[in-house]
Amino acid sequence: KALPVDSSMDVSQRQVPGACFSLVDPTPVENPTLVCASLPALALLDLDSPSEIARPEFVKAFSGNSILPGSRPAAHCYCGHQFGYFSGQLGDGAAMYLGEVINRRGERWEIQLKGAGLTPFSRTADGRKVLRSSVREFLCSEAMYHLGIPTTRAGTCITSDSRVIRDIFYDGRPTHERCTLVLRIAPTFLRFGSFEIFKPEDAQTGRKGPSVGRKDILVKMLDYAVENFYPEIWAEHKENKPVMYVEFYKEVVRRTARMVAEWQCVGWCHGVLNTDNMSILGVTIDYGPFGFMDKFDPQFICNGSDDGGRYTYARQPEMCKWNCNKFAKAIMDVVPLEDTTRHVELFDEEFSQRYKHKMRQKFGLKKELSKDGELVQSFLDTMQKTGGDFTNCFRCLSRLPLPSSPDYEVKRSAVLDYLVSQSSSLAEVKIANKPSLDKRQLSMFITLAQSNPQVVAMLGKSHEFLHREMEKISTLEELDKMSEQEITNKNRECWASWLNKYKDRLEEEEKDVQDLKKLAEDRVSTMNSVNPRFILRNYIAQNAIVAAEKGDYSEVQNVLRLLESPYSETAPMETTAPFVSQEAAASSSVD
Ligand code: AMP
Ligand code: MG
Ligand code: MG
Repeated sequence: KALPVDSSMDVSQRQVPGACFSLVDPTPVENPTLVCASLPALALLDLDSPSEIARPEFVKAFSGNSILPGSRPAAHCYCGHQFGYFSGQLGDGAAMYLGEVINRRGERWEIQLKGAGLTPFSRTADGRKVLRSSVREFLCSEAMYHLGIPTTRAGTCITSDSRVIRDIFYDGRPTHERCTLVLRIAPTFLRFGSFEIFKPEDAQTGRKGPSVGRKDILVKMLDYAVENFYPEIWAEHKENKPVMYVEFYKEVVRRTARMVAEWQCVGWCHGVLNTDNMSILGVTIDYGPFGFMDKFDPQFICNGSDDGGRYTYARQPEMCKWNCNKFAKAIMDVVPLEDTTRHVELFDEEFSQRYKHKMRQKFGLKKELSKDGELVQSFLDTMQKTGGDFTNCFRCLSRLPLPSSPDYEVKRSAVLDYLVSQSSSLAEVKIANKPSLDKRQLSMFITLAQSNPQVVAMLGKSHEFLHREMEKISTLEELDKMSEQEITNKNRECWASWLNKYKDRLEEEEKDVQDLKKLAEDRVSTMNSVNPRFILRNYIAQNAIVAAEKGDYSEVQNVLRLLESPYSETAPMETTAPFVSQEAAASSSVD
């Protein structure tokens, strides 16, 4: 249904029952300027020629200043479970559907503008995005694609002279930031939350989906999704809809599991794994406070507002599975719950299969041995203990030859040196263990916790938190007695011991193999096609953003070029991230 938006209307509270979309036009911006374009993404729309991009119509269309011929822009109505609780209607508050493009190869791609202005779902926000968050979404969408991870794509990033106020305080004052838009491309942006508009009243929050009870629309949406995005399932089962829906659900679960396995294998965190950010295609959507890990830490949290640590690196698979359960509940009016939820278990199977397969490739192991899981775990533990850089530690393993190779010892020693160089210095370990309370405050809280646990809980200091703080303080006291050399020696011992395990495993790999030369070549090429050399580190995105904010877009373009060949050996080796870069990056991801 058409719901025109004008500035005199109160759009903050609107519920939109019985509709999946509301028609709405982008709000123009002043002086739109292209920051960066991804040619491989624009190729999906047959728009990748330089002359096409140079046309004045190009920037107009993808800044929302003009409407493409045939386009009827709309905002999508969806709901979501946010941080564990049902939030009711959310919808495209800042994104607009522009339409679908059928390219020369006959593929259909949905295009969206993110940051195009108010929609009926903007609630109290302004429907805009700024340069910081747009550059991040643009670069990471493309980085993930080139890493081979299922994702939505980004065609352009366009900024403007229009400004919005954001309360990020650089110098005590709110900043006036440039309205910036990203052209997003995917087969569809339908998400689990799209189906939650049918959710009956939620017991915890009392909220319900705006289209609860509309079985007729739910059936239409399910059929639309299966016919268009799961054509094989449609072709095989369209005569038997109950079976078709279950097959669809199972495939969504499997694809979601494979997607998160891919994330884990490159050390990537989404940051906001709410049901409204889970694609029904199992592609990565909605790039907000995401982060690639530098130093490996399973408790890594990239979202500054995730105080409870719901979306840590380690919990991503569990959270995605949780979301699959919520998806089953959203469609239960048409697909009985017992037919779907018993298939949620497919998640673990599929996740573990993909994860193990990928990990085996990352270590260059062709044979499948039962103790491989231990080898992987001990590598992760070693990285964590030594503060090793996730990406660089994996990448350097292909420089280690097979044990039978005559130069094994020489190369091993070089790899060991490199691994130690990637590990934490004394100063870095100290920063990592910096407690947020001092000793005196901590003992005060501990005394208080014993007599009055509720008060301590109210102050947001859990038992686990106090325990961690205590550990940090004692670690720090130990560290004060240690020298730089002692830390380096400790790291060296850890890595040397792991390399011994790896050597044993590689010896098994060589056993009974005739053509060792081929084994060695295959091993290196496999490893170097799954262990990236270039990832979008936070500080790299941050440097590009700082330059772009001064009007220099060349850095965004340079970073994009590197991310287009993440596995390349030819470009210069990336350095380890400066340890203190996380905070600036965290503020840049705020929408
Ligand atoms: P996210 O946390 O990005 O998944 O967004 C959650 C909800 O907030 C979605 O409904 C978004 O459309 C909406 N939203 C996010 N940013 C904005 C914005 N700048 N203006 C309006 N709505 C927004
Ligand atoms: Mg979202
Ligand atoms: Mg977002």
